Amino acid sequence: MKFPEDLIIYDTTLRDGEQTPGVCFSLNDKLEIARKLDQFKIHQIEAGFPIVSQRERESVKAIANEGLDADIIALTRTKPEDIDAAIDCDVDGIITFVGTSDIHLDHKMHITRQDAINLCETAVDYAKDHGLYVAFSAEDATRTDIDFLKRIYGKAEECGADRVHIADTTGAITPQGIDYLVRELVKDLNVMLALHCHNDFGLAVINSITGILAGARGISTTVNGIGERAGNASLEELIMALRILYGKDYGFKTKYIKELSDIVSKASGLPIPYNKPVVGNNVFRHESGIHVDAVIEEPLCYEPYVPELVGQKRQLVLGKHSGCRAVRAKLNECELDVSDEELIE
Ligand code: MN
Repeated sequence: MKFPEDLIIYDTTLRDGEQTPGVCFSLNDKLEIARKLDQFKIHQIEAGFPIVSQRERESVKAIANEGLDADIIALTRTKPEDIDAAIDCDVDGIITFVGTSDIHLDHKMHITRQDAINLCETAVDYAKDHGLYVAFSAEDATRTDIDFLKRIYGKAEECGADRVHIADTTGAITPQGIDYLVRELVKDLNVMLALHCHNDFGLAVINSITGILAGARGISTTVNGIGERAGNASLEELIMALRILYGKDYGFKTKYIKELSDIVSKASGLPIPYNKPVVGNNVFRHESGIHVDAVIEEPLCYEPYVPELVGQKRQLVLGKHSGCRAVRAKLNECELDVSDEELIE
């Protein structure tokens, strides 16, 4: 398996994450999340969609002027006024998008394929002329005719786009499908290819990893996997799977993961499920006698990695499956010394 050395993670918690129904981050929430993402050493932060409102522009601008190491990018349609709004926010770059599937062209944009190519050209040219880092995103790319997709990405590359995005807008692709699609596209393209995967079938993380192995070099994530509908590829699941299962350490400060997750959960009002991989409360909790007995001696018997790696803590809890060793360990925590008979009782 071949992983790129220069993988870019661009986190969209503040944009797609905020598009979760019912979520509205305050300016302070957004700044706190952006600072923590920066401490985590995220490469790029998609800070928002400036054309949406004055308030959105203020928060994107505040993040862009926070002096973070991460590059700050903003979402725009292919309209020059959207790009101007992003420029006014002092961002480093933009993601400019247009729907490319027939269903989007016919029922949302009401334009032809050629019109979409023209919009791509205008937007990328305009943004490059203004000195921005430009990603061109084909919305609903995974339900788009592949020859047309090659044409529109080819146009973006010709206009000087810094990368092109496959947006799996409805989470519609399989790992085998993304493997095929990415391999086909990188044959013809020199420009960097990135993925924005949705989790409608629970495949966002594995689709992202499969895409990386097929030749993608950028991946979009959100903290806790929040986002439209079933959400996006979860930052913490992706990074930990890469690090632990695939042995690829990209240098992220994973000890901040739990803190980051808690901040986003609180700000979004979306609780973290107990069994959520990496950040759920039960992920490093043990109850059954056999497990606790083994974990006291060697945690890796029943843990894939130690909790401190992601800022979590191991917990031994008592319940109907507890054995003597767990009860004694718990009593010891409370500084209670009991005889063996008392322990059994
Ligand atoms: Mn999305």
